[in-house]
Amino acid sequence: MYKVGFIGLGNIGYNLAGNISKKYQTFIWNRTKEKSIKHSNEFNTQIIENITNITNCNIIMFCLPSHIEVHNIIDKLYNHINTNTIIIDCTSSDYKKQKEIYYKLQKNNITFFDAPVSGGPEKAKSGEITCMIGGDEKKFNEIEDVFKSFSNPQYVGEVGTASAIKSINNIMNVSHLCLAAEALKSLENIGIDKTIALNIINKSSGRSLMTEERIPKHIMEKNYNYGFSLGLMDKDVNLAKNIIKEPIMFSNIYSLLKQSLEKYGKDADYTEITKLFFEDNNLNK
Ligand code: NDP
Repeated sequence: MYKVGFIGLGNIGYNLAGNISKKYQTFIWNRTKEKSIKHSNEFNTQIIENITNITNCNIIMFCLPSHIEVHNIIDKLYNHINTNTIIIDCTSSDYKKQKEIYYKLQKNNITFFDAPVSGGPEKAKSGEITCMIGGDEKKFNEIEDVFKSFSNPQYVGEVGTASAIKSINNIMNVSHLCLAAEALKSLENIGIDKTIALNIINKSSGRSLMTEERIPKHIMEKNYNYGFSLGLMDKDVNLAKNIIKEPIMFSNIYSLLKQSLEKYGKDADYTEITKLFFEDNNLNK
C-alpha cells in the first residue's frame, strides 16, 4: 500500500489530500501550519513537521501556485528523495519547466507526472475533479487507483502535455466568462433584463459552463467566491500566451486580466473580472 505525502493544502490541495486519505495513509505538509492541523483533525492525516521527512513516502504530491514553488521544494528535497519515488504535481504550471524537472528527476530514477486538475474547489471536494496526466503510461497504469482516489483521471501523453492543455483550458475559461459578461451587458444596455436573457441563452446554442454556472451562481448574486484567485488565473493566461503565439480570438483577454488585477488585486476571486463589464464604465479596449 502506498504512503502518500501531500504538499500544499490550499483551496484545491486541501480537498485532494482529504480524498486521498480515505484510501491511503496520507502525510501532509503546508507552509502555514494551522491548515495542516485543521486537515489532520478533519481527515485524520498525519502532519509532517520537517518537510524533508516527506521523502519517506512512496508518492509525493504537490498543489502549489506555480512550478516555481514546486521546483524550489524539489530542489531542497532532491538529495533525500529515494529512487523509485513517484512525484505527482497537481499544480497548474509551465509545460516546458515541467519537462525540465522530469528529465532531472529521471536521472535518479524518480518518476514525475504533471497532473493539473480542473473543476474547482467543489469538484475537488466531491472527488469528481478532472485530472489530466502527463508522464510514463505504464507507470500511470500501475498507480491509476491513486489518481482515482481524488479525481477522474485522464492520461494525455508525455510530461508537459497535461500542463499545456490546462493552460489553454484556463484561457478558454476566463475568455468564455468575459464573452458572456459582455454579451449580457450589451443586452442590458438596450433595456433587456439580463436574467431573462440568461435564461433564454441557457436554453439556446450560445450557452456555456459560464452562462450555466458561474454567471448565475457568482456574478448575478454578487457572490464572488468561486475559490480561484485572479492572480492564479493571470498566471495561467500568461502560460497560455506562450503557446498561442499569434492570438486572434484571445487578443483582448490579456489586457482585461491586467486591468482587473490593477483594480481588484491578485487575491480577488477570478469571477470579479466581470465587474469590468457590469460595474466599470472606463473599460479600456
Ligand atoms: P491557494 O492559493 O488556495 O493555495 C496555495 C497553496 O500553496 C497553499 O497551501 C499555500 O500555503 C501554498 N504556498 C504558496 N506559496 C508557497 C511557498 N512559497 N512555499 C510553500 N507553499 C506555498 O491555491 P489553489 O489551491 O487555488 O491553487 C493551487 C494550484 O491549483 C494552482 O496551480 C492553481 O492554478 C491550481 N488550480 C486551482 C483551482 C481553483 O479553482 N482554485 C482549479 C484548478 C487548478 P499557505 O497555506 O501557507 O498559504
